Amino acid sequence: AKSKLASIKKSNAQTQDGTPIELVANIELPQDVDDVLNSGAVGVGLFRSEFLFLGRDNLPTEDEQFDAYREVATRLNGQPLTIRTLDLGADKNPKWSQYTTADNPALGLCGIRLCLAEPALFRTQLRAILRASVHGRVRILFPMVNSVAELRQAVTQLALAREELDATGQAYDPDMQVGAMIEVPSAALTVNMLAKYVNFFSIGTNDLIQYTLAIDRNDDAVSHLYDPTHPAVLYLIWHTIKTANKAGVPVSICGEMAGDARLTRLLLGMGLRKFSMPPANLLSVKRVVLDTHLDHISPVVSKILRTNDPDRVHDLLTQLNTLPA
Ligand code: PEP
Ligand code: MG
Repeated sequence: AKSKLASIKKSNAQTQDGTPIELVANIELPQDVDDVLNSGAVGVGLFRSEFLFLGRDNLPTEDEQFDAYREVATRLNGQPLTIRTLDLGADKNPKWSQYTTADNPALGLCGIRLCLAEPALFRTQLRAILRASVHGRVRILFPMVNSVAELRQAVTQLALAREELDATGQAYDPDMQVGAMIEVPSAALTVNMLAKYVNFFSIGTNDLIQYTLAIDRNDDAVSHLYDPTHPAVLYLIWHTIKTANKAGVPVSICGEMAGDARLTRLLLGMGLRKFSMPPANLLSVKRVVLDTHLDHISPVVSKILRTNDPDRVHDLLTQLNTLPA
């Protein structure tokens, strides 16, 4: 099966009816680009920049970060690179952080909240990303956005970082695209409001599931309840895609769901046209894309979105995935 999959590495990802689908990759460190270039991905949809900050005793400097972002941007050779700003807290905590003691870290000072509370730390990263933006097609993505107010504060910090670079005569791409993660229910429910402030959205289903269902994504005691096909989760994803499309803002998914070939048809049927996933999953998802006709799957997807019985969801999903192309 592996060699068969390799044969589609270079083919364009499009459905049987000719709809183009963008398949891009998630990375954690610059060395992961080797796998991306090998996978047939058309860019990086999620660079989890916090991994540059983990496993060390001190903060990476602006120049260290710049080197890492530039390396990835350069090696992608014109393909888009989406760099997510520091997303610490909860499951990811570096040694130097003083924010590890909360009783509920996933509800505490994590993601963009932490960055807005530490503007010097945040702007150091923003300057590094901006400087890297002249070396490729760099886009910036803010994690854990909760409200328009928070998004506007992040955009203000980005403007300040540009001014700091202007003052020292350093170059950056003035048109760098800015995006927001949709990974908490409040963001999913206010996509129409957030849309005015961004160029793109990326749905983080790992956290969206956690926060919608109130299930710790890392707690084995409740992992059997962590269900990507829970009707509430599917509704929020569907609502986000539909609302973003209506607003003319491109939307992708970069959580685990995007790399699960058993969910590819469901997501296509919900209107998703861009998937970001671990490079190792890319060809199996592409296989499903190539074998799918959007008109043929839509009746079953509509049924899945209307049912409230979890067993029925699973039966319908099997039905969906065994439909001929
Ligand atoms: C997500 O929450 O789905 C996501 C992509 O971000 P992370 O897994 O890094 O929290
Ligand atoms: Mg997340």
